[in-house]
Amino acid sequence: MVELRGVHKSFGSVEVLRGVDLTVTRGEVVVIIGPSGGGKSTLLRCVNLLEPVTSGRVLLESEDLTRPGADLNRVRRRIGMVFQQFNLFPHLSAIDNLTLAPRKLLKVPRAQARERALTLLKRVGLADKAGAYPRQLSGGQQQRVAIARALMMDPHVMLFDEVTSALDPELVSEVLDVMRDLASSGMTMLCVTHEMGFARELGDRLVFIDGGVITEQGRPADVLDRPTHERTRQFLHKVL
Ligand code: ADP
Ligand code: MG
Repeated sequence: MVELRGVHKSFGSVEVLRGVDLTVTRGEVVVIIGPSGGGKSTLLRCVNLLEPVTSGRVLLESEDLTRPGADLNRVRRRIGMVFQQFNLFPHLSAIDNLTLAPRKLLKVPRAQARERALTLLKRVGLADKAGAYPRQLSGGQQQRVAIARALMMDPHVMLFDEVTSALDPELVSEVLDVMRDLASSGMTMLCVTHEMGFARELGDRLVFIDGGVITEQGRPADVLDRPTHERTRQFLHKVL
């Protein structure tokens, strides 16, 4: 579904990703953990080429996104991304946040876009908030709107970058519930998170990134309970 082959990424003279190989199969939930500054966000941004890679290849459903002339806009529609900061359009209601991209980019008729948006808002438990503006919603609600918005484009892969990190603790579970529902529906997911309970429960694989390389990966229970590298042990000791 997603394949990174020897991906390097530098910002100026600073090499942030130093040769990442990662293959994600259809329906797999891969959880990415690791110390701050290790390159987790950069890795996700390279998957949908929000950041162009310095070298290496990125493939989505066997299509090489890094080849010259790749139609990135078309390909990016197959990848949904949700960030730590909710990034909703503040001047648009929840439902208009959802319908904007399909209407503008895909020319979906208004009524059809709204019908789909209502279905998705219902799926994330916000059917009654369609007309609410972001400032009228809690952080957890805003993040659920952001997830629903990403789903509007029918993505084949969803990328989550610390989507619960900015939330008050009591709002974390409502967002994780939505991610659990997505995972069980068979969505392919790459999730950067500090929620080790989530990683253990829903992750098919846990990947530890440190200093721009994958230093350890495996079944979540194995990595969490029996890390083989000292760096992983130190990190887990701090977060668990
Ligand atoms: P993580 O998400 O694991 O905390 P990041 O991928 O955000 O790590 O960052 C990895 C490193 O890359 C950090 O040292 C960060 O300062 C640097 N970095 C990230 N984005 C940029 C950028 N646009 N320009 C320069 N340096 C960047
Ligand atoms: Mg990050």
